[in-house]
Amino acid sequence: MKNPTRAARFHLTKETTYDLAVIGGGPAGMMAAGRAAERGLKVILLEKNSALGKKLLISGGGRCNVTNAEFDNRALLAKFKESGKFLFSAFAQHSVKESLDFFHATGMKTKVEEGQRVFPLSDKAQSVWDVLLAHMKDAKHGGSNPVIIRDNAEVVGFESKVVEGMDSRLRGNDNIEIVDSARLEEVVSSTPKNEEENGGVKRVGHKIITGVRLLNGEVIRARSFILATGGKSHPETGSTGDGFAWLAKLGHTIAPPMAALVPIVVSDPWVKALSGVSLKNAKITLFQNGGKIEVSGAGKVGGGVGKKVGSAGKISEGKLGAGGVGKIGLEKISGAVIGKSGAEKIGVTRGKVLFTHFGLSGPAILNMSSEVNELMKYGDVIISIDLLPEHDYSMLNESLQKLFTAQSNKKFKNAVTELIPAAFVPVVMEKAGIESDTFCHSVTREQRLALIKIFKGLEIHPTGLLGADKAIITSGGVVLPEVDFRTMQSRKVPNLFLVGDILNIDRPSGGYSLQLCWTTGWVAGNSVSSVSAGK
Ligand SMILES: Cc1cc2nc3c(=O)[nH]c(=O)nc-3n(C[C@H](O)[C@H](O)[C@H](O)COP(=O)(O)OP(=O)(O)OC[C@H]3O[C@@H](n4cnc5c(N)ncnc54)[C@H](O)[C@@H]3O)c2cc1C
Repeated sequence: MKNPTRAARFHLTKETTYDLAVIGGGPAGMMAAGRAAERGLKVILLEKNSALGKKLLISGGGRCNVTNAEFDNRALLAKFKESGKFLFSAFAQHSVKESLDFFHATGMKTKVEEGQRVFPLSDKAQSVWDVLLAHMKDAKHGGSNPVIIRDNAEVVGFESKVVEGMDSRLRGNDNIEIVDSARLEEVVSSTPKNEEENGGVKRVGHKIITGVRLLNGEVIRARSFILATGGKSHPETGSTGDGFAWLAKLGHTIAPPMAALVPIVVSDPWVKALSGVSLKNAKITLFQNGGKIEVSGAGKVGGGVGKKVGSAGKISEGKLGAGGVGKIGLEKISGAVIGKSGAEKIGVTRGKVLFTHFGLSGPAILNMSSEVNELMKYGDVIISIDLLPEHDYSMLNESLQKLFTAQSNKKFKNAVTELIPAAFVPVVMEKAGIESDTFCHSVTREQRLALIKIFKGLEIHPTGLLGADKAIITSGGVVLPEVDFRTMQSRKVPNLFLVGDILNIDRPSGGYSLQLCWTTGWVAGNSVSSVSAGK
């Protein structure tokens, strides 16, 4: 991959003061920098890696699920659970339609796949990356100042000073006055600082950032700063959580980063042999061995808004309890015990499952990973995959009988591929005790009934999650009441804006994470000049 960021290098003097410095060159930072430059601001983007957007390039298995084609903001934001209510003002300015318009305007075509997932038509994350780079660099694309891109520029700390302004009701209205005597200092304490009464008006001292210090000692000065350093998952891409420590020092509250959307490790050796195989729309049921499970409610919700299935089988909306206590983002079938001796059925979901060398991944699995992790604290969990969700037991019995009659002289292993993917045939045969060379006419009734049970519930035994570093996202980050979502401005530090994974926003798999980057990045880049750069 060629590295156009080098071409944009620029000789800087320490005296240069930018309108905006963006820290972190992931999707949120690139979108923010591009939008601010488009509005005529002098912008610098600081990225510690030698190239931008490393995580973006591996997103969606290298195909980049760029957003989710849900154009109704209310329905879209319901996916973000409790965080959704904070997001309306940002999404009212830039949502899925605006993001798609942005990409389409550059000629990047997209396609919509199952679950409304939007991908570039090229099936390449590189296409998305190219658009963002062009947006930042190409003045013809609308901006008058290309973004100055500095790679290999690791930020190691902030410098700040105390400014005096009117009370926080007036923040954001350029009422910040620099206190001459304020000294440049390392950020070590929380804000606001030194409140005093002044002529009946409460004056508040706030810390603002004046510069960021790079690893090489250089200080980059700017009027405003956007922090886009991401979360903690896949640290090899550069997301090592640097921003969290700085923000805590600046007085922000950081919900501890926790792995969310993580692949699941399993103990069944046959799963490894299926590595690379996927099921497009599998039905997955979770079971927990042994009676009632008491879940404290600490488990984060990873799936869609759950529906509770009452004992009479009637579906009603509601928060879901594992064993009636905690929350779970799957459908709960209370009291229903189906086919697993001594196991309670916890929830059902549908979606894509990917088999890997360590276990299971894919959107449906990622979305249930938090629940599985939580449930495993209370006992063994079984993930049961229905290979033929459209068939009920009697339909399947009938289909198998018809198949065995029509293909009686054919080997079972060849005939059965009419019903299930070929990759699963050896697993199913071993579990049902059918020898490799068995002909259809020789399959016994007991074997046929065993097959039906296996088709309807292939059992897999999770042993844990792959590890926080392999999570798709980390939940946790800056708590949302401390951010003004109309602008993405920090409510603690007036010239700081927060975007992307650094925010404590839980969401499912399906393009929602990148949409958050486009929305929060665009809103910050769009607001920074009017709010804090003094324009
Ligand atoms: C394997 C995988 C697949 C994914 N697939 C999808 C998908 O298909 N669709 C989807 O919506 N989401 C997906 N996600 C999630 C999505 O990639 C993230 O939500 C998104 O990248 C977050 O963007 P960000 O800009 O906030 O942070 P990041 O992408 O994490 O970027 C942060 C940047 O800041 C830089 N940085 C960090 N510290 C410093 C520092 N001290 N100084 C300078 N620079 C610094 C980092 O090097 C990095 O480049 C996936 C995630 C993973 C791990």
